Amino acid sequence: MAALVYDVAVIGAGAAGMMAASVAGQRGLRVVLIDHATKLGEKIRISGGGRCNFTNVGTTPANYISKNPHFCRSALSGYTPQDFLRLLKDYGIAWHEKHKGQLFCDDSAEDIIQMLRQECEKGHVSWRMPCAVESIAKQGDDFSIRSNQGTITARQVVIATGGMAIPQLGATDFALKLARQFDLKVIEPRPALVPLQFDGGEWQPFAALSGLSAPVRLSVPAVAKPRMKFDEDLLFTHRGLSGPGILQISSYWDPGEALAIDLAPDVNMEKLLLDAKSGGKQQVGNLLGQYWPKRLVEHWLPANPTLPAGLLQQRVADVPDKVLKQLAASIHRWELAPSGTAGYKKAEVMRGGVDTAMLDQRSLQVRSVPGLYFIGEAVDVTGWLGGYNFQWAWASGVACGRALQPAA
Ligand SMILES: Cc1cc2nc3c(=O)[nH]c(=O)nc-3n(C[C@H](O)[C@H](O)[C@H](O)COP(=O)(O)OP(=O)(O)OC[C@H]3O[C@@H](n4cnc5c(N)ncnc54)[C@H](O)[C@@H]3O)c2cc1C
Repeated sequence: MAALVYDVAVIGAGAAGMMAASVAGQRGLRVVLIDHATKLGEKIRISGGGRCNFTNVGTTPANYISKNPHFCRSALSGYTPQDFLRLLKDYGIAWHEKHKGQLFCDDSAEDIIQMLRQECEKGHVSWRMPCAVESIAKQGDDFSIRSNQGTITARQVVIATGGMAIPQLGATDFALKLARQFDLKVIEPRPALVPLQFDGGEWQPFAALSGLSAPVRLSVPAVAKPRMKFDEDLLFTHRGLSGPGILQISSYWDPGEALAIDLAPDVNMEKLLLDAKSGGKQQVGNLLGQYWPKRLVEHWLPANPTLPAGLLQQRVADVPDKVLKQLAASIHRWELAPSGTAGYKKAEVMRGGVDTAMLDQRSLQVRSVPGLYFIGEAVDVTGWLGGYNFQWAWASGVACGRALQPAA
């Protein structure tokens, strides 16, 4: 009896892999889905605090970072947030909108995992899990996949093994190694959507602010015309800065660069301080305390070496205009240079990945290797925080699932 040859082997049963496998399976292709994890869909399970921020209704190509910012356009327009919502409706999964178009499950991320599993069942997808892939080689027209469960043969292979974020959950650099094996260019991978850290000595005065969160405007790099700006909350930690604003800007930060933080983006501090001079006995600290959390006033001001000591306790009326202007400028422009990121262990995603120039934008097929596809986070398309990364996983998975070739 001839050995079974699958139409498609999908490596990685995460968000993108399950989507591609189910779409191809439902088109009648014989699909095998392989994953080395013992538990299905771990990243979906932990995402969005257990409720999975599964998409963003405002998704556009501008919400993604890539060497080619137009590459994601085709897949994103072929499968939109509304398409994913229709799928949720079929399964009776309730959801709600939070901040800035972010959609979350009402109950649990587990609902999405079970939905995708059932979609795969509908497509009669075969599962190999846990199953570790050791190597993939092209043999004639087929691909030979060596695994710890023997060799699997398929006419087409989809690499959906994601990025390197959270290795403790089984993330690997498999996709990047395989890309290099097939002589494909890889855009340097880096942790993204990740907390930023500072040298211990430099950060020590701010460590007391750990746990405090404030709405700020972040820009990078700290120059007159920054590459990117975000208005979001910032969170002080023992080692540095985190919170949604920092996660967003971290994806645009390059090592060695300084960032600029406006600690009072909606207030004209200079006017406020100068106007307050006529207000009698009010101290600088008390005035700022009307706009900032008390702890921020008490620790940030004295830790700022450019400001005169004891400024907090001085009456605004007694402080020279020049110093008040300097204080306002420091509040609106706190410049600091991170020493690094908190790394893949704390990152939500990997930036970089397989160079999109290697791939066809409609199908995600490798131009130089017919039958080989890369989808999801493994590709150099990195979304902002807020549901964009899952939307890319669904959309690239569907684009590929629709393009895979049935047996002749
Ligand atoms: C803590 C956290 C929270 C997040 N929250 C959100 C959110 O709310 N919204 C959002 O849009 N994005 C979120 N993300 C990002 C999102 O989870 C990913 O971008 C998305 O899961 C990528 O999908 P993927 O299918 O490409 O990869 P993954 O979902 O990571 O799937 C890859 C699969 O490949 C398997 N695999 C890896 N290597 C191998 C190998 N060598 N052999 C076999 N199998 C392998 C893995 O076990 C995994 O099942 C979050 C990420 C993290 C870490």
